[in-house]
Amino acid sequence: MSAPDRKPEREAFDIIVVGAGFAGLAALRKVRDDLGYSVRLIEAAAGAGGVWYWNRYPGARCDVESLQYSYGFSEALSQEWCWTERYATQPEILSYVNHVVERFDLARDIRFGTRVTSTAFDGTTARWLLETDRGDRYLARHVIMATGPLSTPHIPPFPGQDEFQGETYHTGLWPHHPVAFRGKRVAIIGTGSSGVQVAPIIAEDAAHLYVMQRTAGHSVPAKNRPLRPGEQDAVKARYGELRAAWNSTPGATAWRSLPTDEVVVTGDKSALEVDDEERRETFERAWSYGGYAFHRAFNDLLIREAASQLANEFIREKIASIVKDPVTADLVTPTQYYGTKRVILDSGYYEMFNRPNVTLVDVRSDPIERLTRTGIETRNARYDVDVIVFATGYDAMTGSLTRMDIRGRGGMLLRDVWKKGPVSYLGLMVAGFPNLFIVAGPQSPSVLANVIAANEHQVGWICACVKYLDTRGIETIEATPEAQAAWVQHVNEVAAATIYTKGDSWYVGANIEGKARAFLPYIGFPRYVAKCEDVVGKGYEGFALGPQAARG
Ligand code: FAD
Ligand code: NAP
Repeated sequence: MSAPDRKPEREAFDIIVVGAGFAGLAALRKVRDDLGYSVRLIEAAAGAGGVWYWNRYPGARCDVESLQYSYGFSEALSQEWCWTERYATQPEILSYVNHVVERFDLARDIRFGTRVTSTAFDGTTARWLLETDRGDRYLARHVIMATGPLSTPHIPPFPGQDEFQGETYHTGLWPHHPVAFRGKRVAIIGTGSSGVQVAPIIAEDAAHLYVMQRTAGHSVPAKNRPLRPGEQDAVKARYGELRAAWNSTPGATAWRSLPTDEVVVTGDKSALEVDDEERRETFERAWSYGGYAFHRAFNDLLIREAASQLANEFIREKIASIVKDPVTADLVTPTQYYGTKRVILDSGYYEMFNRPNVTLVDVRSDPIERLTRTGIETRNARYDVDVIVFATGYDAMTGSLTRMDIRGRGGMLLRDVWKKGPVSYLGLMVAGFPNLFIVAGPQSPSVLANVIAANEHQVGWICACVKYLDTRGIETIEATPEAQAAWVQHVNEVAAATIYTKGDSWYVGANIEGKARAFLPYIGFPRYVAKCEDVVGKGYEGFALGPQAARG
């Protein structure tokens, strides 16, 4: 699908938003309808939805419960939309997004099928000039980069990529037509959240599926199910109150179960302070309930190495009880600390290995060396296949920003500034890049929270900031280098006190060859919100506010 042809545009706006995922759409609506600014949104895809536009692979669904993974800005919208399952599928989320676009008449201000290639700040006019791959040139007073934390798909540079004669797909660039796996030999590379979601569905059709695993992740059952009668109404009856309660938790999600507030796990004890029986019983309850209740079974699974290992032991036993072949069971059992990689929710992933048409290939001990005309060659074996599915992840959090030429004061490139790892103030702005705001960027909580809630918070902060500047006739806002350095240090200190930094994952940039190792997200949504409010309360502390414009 491609966007219709159009002539290049030359226009000026108060605000340009880049990206039509949940963040960009929320920004467009708020900036235009609540604040009354002129705005244009530019989106590379032919439609809205961001992640949910691109990730059309079978089995794609959210891992935050559908009643929570939705916008909170409009009570009417919250009331009228009906979800059907505990975790919404990609098509349902995309329908929701398209409903939002239509309901709030957003499409008229979006240019689809248009990629921003560069943007540069002109210090004399205090304007950003944005250029696109369609020859557009836009001027803007402010830019909101809503380009997504997981929006730049990554395929490792295996030699021989061009030689393979079969079909290849990346989960994050899935075609719009159905992909037929029936009777085909398929290899899937990668066993993160995407691989674990898609593999069991491919296995149902494929003649044979080779699951190429380098590192076994931690996966807990999602326990997806249709929403029960009355369940949705019970949430809708107190949506505002519930969303506020969810937003007061570290992950901006329900601490207790939906919708009854039944306590699945209290999460107020250390895994180390209870006896074996209580620990097992608590883990068991969380496992049976499904989803991220397991995360919250104890309050230190993501903090103390010994606690994290206890979660590992429980999961190892579960895997051993599901996967019949002991060698495979052993291989799919994670060895790194629970939570160092993003914990996965699955539907029948471990059960899939009991199928006769599925083989686990351990590409840690026998690494992939190259693709060939007919398949994949590892150091010691050859796998002839018809289809290769890359579930190999993303250049997370920085990738979409560093792929553009973003030039701030004196022509400095954001890509260069971030060479040794990203720097920012509150994850929202970078020193030397005035009036350029980032949503879901590095050093913000986004990916460690319900991302829609985190996005909405940042969009709200940015809009209030622009309004503040305009009512005072202030032309520019910019992070000070001192405040930025202090924020980077704080982000790292918070992370160092957890187990997040103790493994290799996209959280630390380890999945991309040559990417600087740096902890990318900020841990703790409510602490972040409080800090953002504090900064505002102190007159945008840590930001340099530019000259008052000569008005008129
Ligand atoms: P995106 O949805 O990534 O949107 C960014 C948009 O910017 C894209 O449409 C992209 O095309 C566009 N863009 C990028 N660069 C340019 C450019 N130069 N020019 C023009 N356009 C550009 N989070 C959760 O909280 N719960 C979940 O269950 C969950 N599931 C996920 C499942 C998958 C498969 C993936 C990949 C991520 C998931 N996430 C989940 C994280 C997800 O990133 C967020 O939930 C959310 O969708 C991000 O919205 P966004 O608007 O910030 O970014
Ligand atoms: P990912 O978590 O980064 O997983 C990538 C996988 O590819 C890993 O198993 C990785 O192995 C493997 N890989 C990478 N390079 C390889 C190589 N050269 N050889 C062999 N294997 C290689 O990516 P993802 O699964 O797309 O998920 C990214 C994030 O998106 C998730 O963490 C989550 O936040 C979000 N997401 C959410 C859902 C959901 O359930 N709602 C679904 C999909 C994605 P190593 O671990 O060894 O590097």
